[in-house]
Amino acid sequence: MIGVLGAGQLGRMLALAGYPLGLRFRFLDAAHDAPVKDLAEFIRADFHDKGALDRFADGLEVVTYEFENVPVDTVERLTRRVPVYPPPAALRASQDRLEEKTFFRNLGIPTAPFVAVHSRQELDAALAKIGYPAILKTRRMGYDGKGQAPIRNADEAERAWEALGESAAQATGLALILEGFVAFEREVSQLAVRGRDGRMVFYPLVENHHAEGMLRLSLASAPDASPTLARLARDYAARVLDTLNYVGVLAIEFFQWGEELIANEMAPRVHNSGHWTIEGAVTSQFENHLRAILGLPLGIADARCACAMLNIIGDFPDTQKVLSCPGAHLHLYGKKARPGRKLGHITVCAETMEMVRVTVEQLRRSTSTLGPNFG
Ligand code: AMP
Repeated sequence: MIGVLGAGQLGRMLALAGYPLGLRFRFLDAAHDAPVKDLAEFIRADFHDKGALDRFADGLEVVTYEFENVPVDTVERLTRRVPVYPPPAALRASQDRLEEKTFFRNLGIPTAPFVAVHSRQELDAALAKIGYPAILKTRRMGYDGKGQAPIRNADEAERAWEALGESAAQATGLALILEGFVAFEREVSQLAVRGRDGRMVFYPLVENHHAEGMLRLSLASAPDASPTLARLARDYAARVLDTLNYVGVLAIEFFQWGEELIANEMAPRVHNSGHWTIEGAVTSQFENHLRAILGLPLGIADARCACAMLNIIGDFPDTQKVLSCPGAHLHLYGKKARPGRKLGHITVCAETMEMVRVTVEQLRRSTSTLGPNFG
């Protein structure tokens, strides 16, 4: 039995990938309408509930997580009873943007310039050092573009402070980071997997398009990525994996500028920009994550075809229309529609990226909720 902390769509897709291997799953999450609740054992409890954690751990072979804001204390408590992968150090580094960027920098992986900010005065000093434009972010609990404010001038600095300074003070003891704005050409991500024996496999580089801070569209393999760029991304990912003695899937998001990669953040888990691998890769990220944490041989991570992945956000598309598009596969997560909520995704597979683009355009024309924010 595999234990998973968090019970959202990533957990659901992990379970769906595990059933052909004869695996069984137990999830723990505080959410009411968890996407896994109809397909696996589910303990509904807070991550701090010690009694529930003990019940959760009973009889488990291994524990993993599908959500990077699981408290590190919770994971450390579980490691006393059962192996937990990826290691808690990866979780800790990814939960705090300052620690994460410092970690990248120490490994020689480029990042945007950054300075820690604890007060209004420190924000002015940081702006004097970094210059405009910049982005003020909360160090913790930021995701999907939440907890950040762009600063292009002194007025915006005041507004960013009003928006983030107060709430950060209450929630996280005033932990903020100011980052220089990277004038990137595009955003790409590298997914990599490391097994218990230290062997690694790397998925092809993926091109990502965000709107309002959320991923809308991924293209795999990233069009026109040179072999040099692909090697660089793998080299950076390998440094992170080896340093952390990592086990499982890791995603690193980069800004690309020419042949340079600037690391923005990492996720110690399966990742939205890897959903295309279910149909589009020889072994999906979900299966490879399970293979890694169980000490099984890793599967080949090459792409089988050209792919796009479109997130379904806020409203459902017409199933008839989606499935009438050639090479389109629909995944729904069993959630109720709500503005801004990730409800599912569509993967489009074809022989060439040109053919993929034609189908993506067809999907966008047929379903207003899939556009027009990306691409
Ligand atoms: P994050 O929450 O750090 O992933 O940021 C969400 C999105 O904001 C990223 O995918 C980028 O599009 C944009 N962004 C974040 N940080 C920067 C930066 N330092 N320079 C330029 N754009 C950024």
